[in-house]
Amino acid sequence: MNIEKKIEINRDLLVQIAKIGRKNSVIPSLQNLFPFEHYFDEKGNLKREELDKIDGLWTRREILTRYLLVSSVLDQGPDLEGVRQLLKEVVNSLYEKEIRIFHKPLDFFKEIGISIDEIIRKHASIKKIRAEDWAKENKSNPNKYNLFTDRTNQVLGYAVYRWGTPLCVPYLLEKDFQKNRNELIEPLVEYIESWDSAEIMSQQIKDNERYGLGKAIGDKAGHLFAKFYIHTFGLAKRNDESFGPLSYELPFDSNAGRVLFRTGFLFNCAELSDYEKWDVIQKGRGKGGKDYIRVTNIRGRKSNELSKSLEFMNSYETICIEYLKVRKRKPSTVEIQRIPNTLLLDTQYGIGDLDDGLIYIGTNYCYNHDKPKCKECPIKSFCIAYNKKDLISRFRT
Ligand code: SF4
Repeated sequence: MNIEKKIEINRDLLVQIAKIGRKNSVIPSLQNLFPFEHYFDEKGNLKREELDKIDGLWTRREILTRYLLVSSVLDQGPDLEGVRQLLKEVVNSLYEKEIRIFHKPLDFFKEIGISIDEIIRKHASIKKIRAEDWAKENKSNPNKYNLFTDRTNQVLGYAVYRWGTPLCVPYLLEKDFQKNRNELIEPLVEYIESWDSAEIMSQQIKDNERYGLGKAIGDKAGHLFAKFYIHTFGLAKRNDESFGPLSYELPFDSNAGRVLFRTGFLFNCAELSDYEKWDVIQKGRGKGGKDYIRVTNIRGRKSNELSKSLEFMNSYETICIEYLKVRKRKPSTVEIQRIPNTLLLDTQYGIGDLDDGLIYIGTNYCYNHDKPKCKECPIKSFCIAYNKKDLISRFRT
């Protein structure tokens, strides 16, 4: 197949998924969270016109942004629904006890005994409800159900590292701004929007020497935070292209990777042998001896194939220089994780729509086992695994 055809097929696929995402996007319900109850109307819509209202010392936008940062860090592991429930229940419990961790982040540490007791208590109650079903679905033992990131049993390490580190960022920013005699009502928001683009911001959230979360946050979580901030909750004050719908990369998690692998998207970017060489496909290392797809290893890998198309390279240059702001000069080769931005350029869709679509398809049809619901899948006519079942049975994410 020639390159232009591959590009066309991939573009049609992504637009279709993004279209589905826009119709089926799920906004995490925060109106049941104690600190945010009054931020939403009766229908559950965020009162955007009130984002600048002061809540304590900060604006509502600032408080929500603090929450989203913690939420992005925690949003990983084998049971995302359980993780989200844990965050919600712990936050509610702490706020009921006047430990207002997003308004006064230091309270989380001042009352560390209560903070970890609440995490342990809520984790145990969620485990009771969800462990059996989780074990059945994952052919595992319910005792192994563990929502602490890295599946540790040490609650103090989990609490201080995964909850505490992102809570420290706004606190440190507040102190630093005060040192320079700047009283700000949105220290975290100001910091986030001070970067050239949302993509640079999501990298700096991890890598910045002073404020970076380091290993407490992964690349995917940095991009998820950008998606929440710009697309899902529409918190961005800036309205330039570099903080718009194509200004950050796709949060590349196993769900997205599985759909993009099975549908053939990744094969139109590079060969199976390339993915094996890059350790994206790890032979026999998946559950049951299947080949494991480790999508995070795609980062930084190049598509020599698509780099040969002049027209595609022109769009890629625009994306890198004007939207992501990751390059000053024309790039010579295409990095695979930036292909979705390039293909969605000049369409009505953004990375948030695409990610919503991948979540919808991955959680409702394209399950991580041998029998996804292909016959009912809304993108079956675009998917090569629909007629090539070994792409489903041989590989796992
Ligand atoms: S047709 Fe099947 S393999 Fe393809 S995306 Fe849909 S569920 Fe997944």
